[in-house]
Amino acid sequence: MGLYRNNLYICTMKKMILFAAGLLVTASLSAQQPTGATFKSEAANDSVTAVNPIDTLNTEDKFTKIVLFDNHTWSYMDMGRPVINDNLYLEHWDTTAIHSYRGYPLDSIPEEVDLLLADSLHNYCPPIVGKVRSEYKFRRTREHQGIDIPLQYGDTVRAAFDGVVRFRGGGRQTGGYGNLVVLRHANGLETYYGHLSKSIVNIGELVKAGEVVGYGGSTGRSTGPHLHFETRYKGQTFDPQRLIDFETGTLRDSIITLKKHYYNIYSHYGQSDEESLTASQHITHTIKSGDTLGGLAAKYNTTIANICKLNNISRSTILSVGRRLIVR
Ligand SMILES: [Zn+2]
Repeated sequence: MGLYRNNLYICTMKKMILFAAGLLVTASLSAQQPTGATFKSEAANDSVTAVNPIDTLNTEDKFTKIVLFDNHTWSYMDMGRPVINDNLYLEHWDTTAIHSYRGYPLDSIPEEVDLLLADSLHNYCPPIVGKVRSEYKFRRTREHQGIDIPLQYGDTVRAAFDGVVRFRGGGRQTGGYGNLVVLRHANGLETYYGHLSKSIVNIGELVKAGEVVGYGGSTGRSTGPHLHFETRYKGQTFDPQRLIDFETGTLRDSIITLKKHYYNIYSHYGQSDEESLTASQHITHTIKSGDTLGGLAAKYNTTIANICKLNNISRSTILSVGRRLIVR
């Protein structure tokens, strides 16, 4: 299934390149036509259809390809280089840490920010298409700050947007993430690609949306091959499903308005703004040795029933130390 999908994508890409190359030839040929020579159009059209791109070759520069034509000629083709805004790329730029915005105060982030995701210059591609198995939520004892999509070992995982590789690592350095790639994008967003069997991009490398960043796997804290995908703005996570419908692979909109209450594990796609705001205002408590539901209810001026309802637990649930409960 995965292979089929990837081949299909590559075929489509190749077709698009060939189609674009065809347009290029048409354009350059018609540009060579002397003005006012419309009576020659029939002959000119013949020469246009006579030259067709038949294949593309890679060059040392990944943004330049060679197009081969059926008349045994070739030409370079510029694939378009991502547009880079230096200021955003340099801000809190750390290639040695997974999270480079550590300590950046939430207060410094605007209440609302509009981020351009895609237009004619800024491309988008789903990192992988599939049903979300685990959502952006509080899971058992820890925050699950991204989404999980099952895949087959070796499936290609692609850059969602044009960007620069800010971090690449694995092993002890990345812990639960396993082999991880973090991309910084022109609008300030960062996307995280975790549990890869192998990553194939290098720190500082410019990547285009759709470019393969690595292959799917199960490295790190993982119980089977899947992609762990995170979206962060200034280091703050928000539900990636706000950006992408992963089941269809489509971008929900070309612009996203990020609201401050989105940067909260209880705030997720599908909630109304009011629900999200309320959810993000929950007070949580990390269980310490000796804590009881009765004790917490008294401490936070609420009831045991309320705490149970908010956390979907029962009165008899064992409170494991380190678990975070919503108390209000
Ligand atoms: Zn995950």
